[in-house]
Amino acid sequence: DDLHRLHCPSNYADEDIVIETFYHKEGSEHSCVYHGGERFFLDSNNSWKIFPERWYDDGVIQTIEVVSDDPVLKKEFLMQLEYGKAIWDDTRQQQTNRAEGSEDDRTGKLRHPVKGDVSTYIFKEEHNVHCFFDVASGEWVKLPVCLELQSEQIQSLISEVRQQIPSWTDTRDILAALRASNYDVTDCVKNMHLAGYNSFASASTAPGSHVLFEKDQKISSLESQLQYHQHRYDKDKELLNTAHSEKTRFLAQIEELQKRVAELEVSARSSQLQVNSLSHVQRGQQDTRPKSSVPKQSVRSLSHHARLISESHHLLKLEVKQTFSELATLIKTAVETSKKLPSSGSLVPKSELEEVRALYRKEFLHRKLLYNKLQELNGNIRVFARCRFDPRTRCILNFPNDEDITLNDVRGNKQTFTFDRVYSPETSQEQVFEETRAIITSCVDGYNVCIIAYGQTGAGKTHTMMGPSDDVGVNIRAIQELLRLTNERESIDYQLSVSMVEIYNEVIHDLLTSQCNVVTAQNVGHSVTMSGLSSHTVMTEQDISHIMKTGMTNRTVASTKMNSESSRSHLLVILKVEGHDKVSNARTMGTLTLVDLAGSERLAKTEVSGQQLVEAVAINRSLSALGQVFAALGKSAMHIPFRNSKLTQVLQPSLSGDAKAVLFLAVSPAASNLAETISTMTFGSNVKQVELGVPKRNVIKPKK
Ligand code: ADP
Repeated sequence: DDLHRLHCPSNYADEDIVIETFYHKEGSEHSCVYHGGERFFLDSNNSWKIFPERWYDDGVIQTIEVVSDDPVLKKEFLMQLEYGKAIWDDTRQQQTNRAEGSEDDRTGKLRHPVKGDVSTYIFKEEHNVHCFFDVASGEWVKLPVCLELQSEQIQSLISEVRQQIPSWTDTRDILAALRASNYDVTDCVKNMHLAGYNSFASASTAPGSHVLFEKDQKISSLESQLQYHQHRYDKDKELLNTAHSEKTRFLAQIEELQKRVAELEVSARSSQLQVNSLSHVQRGQQDTRPKSSVPKQSVRSLSHHARLISESHHLLKLEVKQTFSELATLIKTAVETSKKLPSSGSLVPKSELEEVRALYRKEFLHRKLLYNKLQELNGNIRVFARCRFDPRTRCILNFPNDEDITLNDVRGNKQTFTFDRVYSPETSQEQVFEETRAIITSCVDGYNVCIIAYGQTGAGKTHTMMGPSDDVGVNIRAIQELLRLTNERESIDYQLSVSMVEIYNEVIHDLLTSQCNVVTAQNVGHSVTMSGLSSHTVMTEQDISHIMKTGMTNRTVASTKMNSESSRSHLLVILKVEGHDKVSNARTMGTLTLVDLAGSERLAKTEVSGQQLVEAVAINRSLSALGQVFAALGKSAMHIPFRNSKLTQVLQPSLSGDAKAVLFLAVSPAASNLAETISTMTFGSNVKQVELGVPKRNVIKPKK
């Protein structure tokens, strides 16, 4: 009580009702009242509870309004407070029972240059960044990087990263990567390796499509620069090849010319000998012997020829010399050119090419982060409701706009459910897919994406997911979009592989093996390993539909053997998308999980027994486990109960961190299904509250 009085606004009278807001350091806000020396808060069920003592150390209280002269309001408050007081003893008992002294190691203190010493708190399950409560704005504010670096906790994390990779020296970069990896050192190191560079782009720019557009332009300009450099490289290579062939040609010419010179020299020498011998004969005949029979004329002509030959020999020698010197210059140039060209490089300076490459990597990553931010703004879990088309029945649901469904419940009260998008019975398969298209890009970017269909049997889950072959559903369209995107990105090599499983009575069966082998799932961190699961590499849409057909056939055979219906099991198609960027060398890994859940109808309605009862229990248990997971995610709970069922275990990677999920609620238009329709839409409404990877703020305004 002393503590309560300590926090009593001293300048108010005891009968005043002081309306306050309490800001909890974990990010939630609570409406409170202070009256007669006691403080109460409005809990999630909208009832007044005694303000827990430990909260005085966990946040800040701000006075909103003081009510002292409104008798009606006072009476209402006092009545509600009476109810609150009745459970006070109970609450106090629970509080004392709760183990005390569990110091929260996420709290700390830092000196803020303007605000002085501020208490900080790490938001753990949410975004893992130091925040402090800014009284002026009444908000929990992210600590700037430069201040966060001063925290001992952060310093030790950074030194852990630096120990693993000593070449990363920029602490700001490391902190940015840590923040992006939720302070997980392993994730951080992995991410930085994947990104292939150690300077994370700042994500502080307000995300929006215009920024994405600018990024696209920058990327395409860098791509064209790369192309230009590649072109120059190709040209240089071509030049070198020409020089090489010229060199070979010249060498052959030289050889030919040398041969000719040698021949000419031989012929010149023999001609000279002939001339000499002829002159000798002539002289001898003149002096001692009788006149020769060789006519003087022919001797003259012979000596004339010999002179000509000698002259041409001389000219030829000059010509060869000249050709030799020209060839030497040419060869020298060719050799120098070839020296400049490293075996794998080009004439373009290596550093320049590397720079462009690094820029490309940076821009590509930045674009990816921005696209992700844009998707996050729309919500990482989106809930769409679709009412089945059924010409045999009157539709009891109304669709006043794109986001609301209204209906009259069993008591005739009008109820409205709001979702991210609602589809009336007339909506085509193509229109239904349109809203889902955007998140397929995230999958290609390396995020985990899952699309789940929920609803009672016959409400149109399979129609929405698979659809008839002439009007395919979301599954096939998502795969088509995935293939289109992977083919469009020429600079990235993608490898796709597909697996298909069925979860029946809490056992996972591999549908792509003829015996539907049993698969065991094990969760490690955020990921799940399924030992014994077969996976098939696929290239085209035909490959995928062929494999899916095989899976469906195996499913039918297995269910006939077990004498059960396929609607009694969950069907999951898991597509792994591995990307390798040829330019930046970065690797990405995303998965697209397509889930057609078993019917959600309740036990009583089907009045089952024996095997059917087991099936129904298994389905109910796994669907409620899915609901619990969504509820825990919605509360940003420390522990998310993924291991409560095989279904949630397998879906863990697709529902954690920055994964993206779409939940399709399939509902029936018929009045006879009203109760199930309401139950399905209630499930969807609860899921709609969940924001994956983004801290959720729970704002309750005081009643006026
Ligand atoms: P579930 O998978 O929820 O059990 P189905 O998808 O098998 O339900 O739907 C039951 C029947 O209703 C099927 O014959 C299906 O073709 C039909 N159907 C469901 N939704 C639609 C729709 N939007 N338009 C036309 N027919 C539909």
